[in-house]
Amino acid sequence: MQLRFVVRTFLSIALLLTAFIPTSFANENEQVAIIIDDFGGDVRGVQSFLDGNIPVTVAVMPFMEQSTEQAKLAHNAGLEVIIHMPMEPKKGKASWLGPNAITSDLSDKEIQKRVLAAIENVPFAKGINNHMGSKIVEDERIIRIILEIAKQKGLYIIDSGTSSSSVIPKLAKEMDIPYATRDIFIDDTHSSKAHVMKQMSSLLKIAKTNKKAIAIGHVGINGHKTFEGILTTLPSFTKERVKIVPASHLLETNIEKDPMHFWQPKEMEDEDENTYPAPSK
Ligand SMILES: [Zn+2]
Repeated sequence: MQLRFVVRTFLSIALLLTAFIPTSFANENEQVAIIIDDFGGDVRGVQSFLDGNIPVTVAVMPFMEQSTEQAKLAHNAGLEVIIHMPMEPKKGKASWLGPNAITSDLSDKEIQKRVLAAIENVPFAKGINNHMGSKIVEDERIIRIILEIAKQKGLYIIDSGTSSSSVIPKLAKEMDIPYATRDIFIDDTHSSKAHVMKQMSSLLKIAKTNKKAIAIGHVGINGHKTFEGILTTLPSFTKERVKIVPASHLLETNIEKDPMHFWQPKEMEDEDENTYPAPSK
């Protein structure tokens, strides 16, 4: 009789606990990054995002009149900064590209020079994504040069997804560089606030399904509408416990394949170095 009571009480408590655990912890790991492209100029939306307290990732086009200043302001506002590297598209006007863009006619040396100059021009950058670039992202020679510099400088790479034949994921994996690919654009040049809101709700759905998602929006002609659309939909993310994080939190890496890299240094600290077995190679 008494045993039955104990078992029943134990089961009740266990049931009660499992009822609470899912709502408290289950969705904690669903995360989205919202990258806002085309910073660097005096355009709509820039100030809103710099002041807005939304943890977006700020992608700054190098060599524009306010590139360096806006990168510093974004960093000071606690936002993650990346370089929005202009790259030649298959179609479109050359004037959309901005200064010192990566074009397919450039020599290896000139590409290196332009990427290094962009890193100098956009302080605090943690990564690189492409502005346009449908032609360049399919070019293994050029992407390899850009990724070599990214690796040297410890920068991650985001494939903005302007071409389905991009070699960025393949080369990033091969060269062991943290990378991610855009899941959804939340606006285009003439987007209304309603359109941004609709895309944000799709972003939320992707995050619920895949556990993580990366969106790209823009400052520019309708940058203020992009900001308002994001701001209006934020409560639904809070309600669903989907967290907005910097893009660096959502990268694919090869680190998991090499756990030795992680535990060894810590063990080394704890152990007497003289008695610790020497590495096998
Ligand atoms: Zn862009």
